[in-house]
Amino acid sequence: MLFKEIIGQQKVKQKLLGLVRDDRSPHALMLFGPPGTGKLALAIAMAQYLACGDRQEADSCGKCPSCVKFGKLVHPDLHFVVPVLKTGSSTAPPISDDYAEVWRETLLADFYVTENQWYEALGAENKQGIINVKESESIIRKLGFKPYESDYRMIVIWLPEKMNQPAANKLLKLIEEPPAKTLILMVSEHTYRILPTILSRTQLLHVPPLSDSMIRDGLIQHENSDQQLIEDAVNRANGNFSLALQTLRRDENELNHFELFTQLMRLCYARDIISINQWVESVSVLGRERQKQLIDYSLQLLRENFMLHLENSTLNYMSKKEAEFSARFSPFIHVGNVHALAEGFTLAGNHIEANGNPRIVLMDLSIGIIRLLMQKAPVTG
Ligand SMILES: [Zn+2]
Repeated sequence: MLFKEIIGQQKVKQKLLGLVRDDRSPHALMLFGPPGTGKLALAIAMAQYLACGDRQEADSCGKCPSCVKFGKLVHPDLHFVVPVLKTGSSTAPPISDDYAEVWRETLLADFYVTENQWYEALGAENKQGIINVKESESIIRKLGFKPYESDYRMIVIWLPEKMNQPAANKLLKLIEEPPAKTLILMVSEHTYRILPTILSRTQLLHVPPLSDSMIRDGLIQHENSDQQLIEDAVNRANGNFSLALQTLRRDENELNHFELFTQLMRLCYARDIISINQWVESVSVLGRERQKQLIDYSLQLLRENFMLHLENSTLNYMSKKEAEFSARFSPFIHVGNVHALAEGFTLAGNHIEANGNPRIVLMDLSIGIIRLLMQKAPVTG
């Protein structure tokens, strides 16, 4: 991780660079602040700078053997401690090393990973990880060895507030009497949950929320996306880049579903079988999960259109694009066909879930939609 790859945070970067350049690195440093500000990336960038064989004025070189290993997160003197939990059938208390490979992959995919995303990567969403005493023992054991390649051993502890009492007590001893040439970097979002005795022996550095313009620039760098979607994500992020990315990706997905749904409705209305066939082809390669999401989205938009038809008013749950489309589409969704349409989509969803051939399932669905869209609304008194 190079400093220049991290969004904003110029002040924090200058501070970290200065500590290394002037050889003033403390034994223990804690980067703390709200989520989604790049704290973890900053900690790793500092460790990389410390170990770099050809340090530049304001960043690591990115090319020396040490930097190359940091780029893959495989430097033998870089250790991670992260909250983990039991998965599968294992009974022993887990430690970070048990999940080293998943952690590397998760982090390389997104240095702004959130705590929940990490638990999802472990296959354990909605659960809470901890850092246990076995983990502290493992750190102490690692620090008993000489560094392999660097002058320093570097330990990044992500979310030290997840340490239980015995783990924190053991770590405290280590911070009180640190072995030489060791840098402990902690990255915390809830410092008030950390033992005051640990905090008092640690140099603290606050990492503030990102400004809107920083988040906007970061999103433009990360994702090639619609300008309006980026603005929406910036507005909802409140300085949290992880949240901005999540919002943007979810909205991009929804926009995609919207395009696919409206295409299908237009093609079915026009009874354009050749284009419908192309549509089916393109959707059948998306993968089951995406297909199910599209079906769910379609059901939801159908329901809203039916409500719109009944009440002839604009509903709150629609985006601008959805509302514009629905103003024209809702007259075709009425009490005479809405139930059969919903049933058709639901059935298609069930068949996809049960490993049905998506080409056949989606073609069947389309033929059904053609027939149902032709039905006139029943005349009501
Ligand atoms: Zn280097």
